[in-house]
Amino acid sequence: MENTVEPVHSRVEGNEKADKLARFGSSKPFIGSEPVFGTSLSGAKQQIKSWMIQKTNERWNKEPQLRHSKAMLPIFNPKLSKYFLRLSRSSFKKLTGFYTGHGNFKKHLKTIGISEDDQCRLCNVDKETAEHLLGECDSLVVTRYSIFGRPYMDLNEIGEQNVNNILTTTIACWKHRFSFDHRS
Ligand SMILES: [Zn+2]
Repeated sequence: MENTVEPVHSRVEGNEKADKLARFGSSKPFIGSEPVFGTSLSGAKQQIKSWMIQKTNERWNKEPQLRHSKAMLPIFNPKLSKYFLRLSRSSFKKLTGFYTGHGNFKKHLKTIGISEDDQCRLCNVDKETAEHLLGECDSLVVTRYSIFGRPYMDLNEIGEQNVNNILTTTIACWKHRFSFDHRS
């Protein structure tokens, strides 16, 4: 029976020769290090990346503490990592403080022995933490509502928010003349 299927590349100069060489190459036994896997380089890279993300998440989930960080970052997110790396050094530092809870917040400063009290510098009522400022502080109700569309949020709700909005809130705190800097 005559083969009537014409190679796609046949009418393009040079491609006919490439097809012929490809057929020749695939008909020969493999020479080189074994084992040999029939997968493309990009496919292999994707599989390695998926494996890395899975292992990172497994390790993250096994961490016994880190309540604040885990709520803010429930899973490893490569896009979020890239977002952070594009920030200015100043924004990176501020945003990292809000994501980890280990910024220049009075509660944290007291824990590490830098501040004598842990009272919020905005409302003077509750303990000043990242969680308090992002979701609870009465002094930021209007700001919070304008950015997130709600006056209060618990920690898990905060963790579901877009990182841009978290950053906007962080910047808004500075606009409230609140530096989070123990030296001020
Ligand atoms: Zn407050």
